[in-house]
Amino acid sequence: MIDCKDLILDVEQAFESKRSHKEYLYSVKKDQLLTNADYKKVCEDLSQTIFDWNKAEFLEDTELANRLSLQVENLKQKKAQLEIKYGLKEFEPDCPICKDFGVTDNGRCQCFYTHLNNLCYEELGLKTPLLNDFSDDTLSNVNHTEKYFEKLQLYAKSFKNTSKNLIFTGKTGTGKTFLSKCVANEIAKNKNIVLFLSSRSLNNIAIENFKNPPAVQKNINSIIQTCDFLVIDDLGAEIILNKITVENLLNIISARLEYSKPFLITTNLSMNEISLKYGERLFSRLTGKQTVTLNFDGADLRKVK
Ligand SMILES: [Zn+2]
Repeated sequence: MIDCKDLILDVEQAFESKRSHKEYLYSVKKDQLLTNADYKKVCEDLSQTIFDWNKAEFLEDTELANRLSLQVENLKQKKAQLEIKYGLKEFEPDCPICKDFGVTDNGRCQCFYTHLNNLCYEELGLKTPLLNDFSDDTLSNVNHTEKYFEKLQLYAKSFKNTSKNLIFTGKTGTGKTFLSKCVANEIAKNKNIVLFLSSRSLNNIAIENFKNPPAVQKNINSIIQTCDFLVIDDLGAEIILNKITVENLLNIISARLEYSKPFLITTNLSMNEISLKYGERLFSRLTGKQTVTLNFDGADLRKVK
């Protein structure tokens, strides 16, 4: 889980207010309906009949109790029919699993994590990106990515904080970004906070963040450093700014290694070029024993059709 208590609190409050707003709307509508004479009569009859039925049961008058029980059923049906007729719908939750509580018997619901993940992008000033799905077979049948497809699917499905870091290298159009989006999407489906950021966005966030007050800076760094899985897409496409770009990457990667938070990097650069461009300190952290490098070189998949 991400180390950002304020954001988690925001999501908890959002769930609470969503529920109470819907319940409020329902009660307003119900009050309006009670001004309808037919509906009011059915509600009153129902209350009285339930009272009489309980009394008959207490007095062990079985015959009367059975008769009243049938009357209660009839009145409930009538009440339901009138509610349909006048458009009073039961509280309809957005999430049928947790009924918008955000929690189930098994802990927090997936919808809670999805909401929190969207809020993280919002905090970074970004829209939630559209990710690909492994079932989207645009590139899965192409020979070149086939060898990685199943392995990466397995990686994503069994993802945990001890999973390896990944680097996808290769020319433009070899399927690196597509597969990294599939991996990110699959991991996010399993109660993880996942960020998919282009190297340019990451660089811009770092530059902009200097202008923020310290508390906001801390929050933004915390999101990027402690989210469960971070994808940096197209490393090398950003403009390298002295003392910002490399230092920022160094901070992020060092923190993620320290907290055991895996990352995935896609790049057109060769390993040698990464070392030359970003220096030995970052290179050695990126390519430590926890990292697996996959080479995607081959045909330009965008041209294979
Ligand atoms: Zn839910």
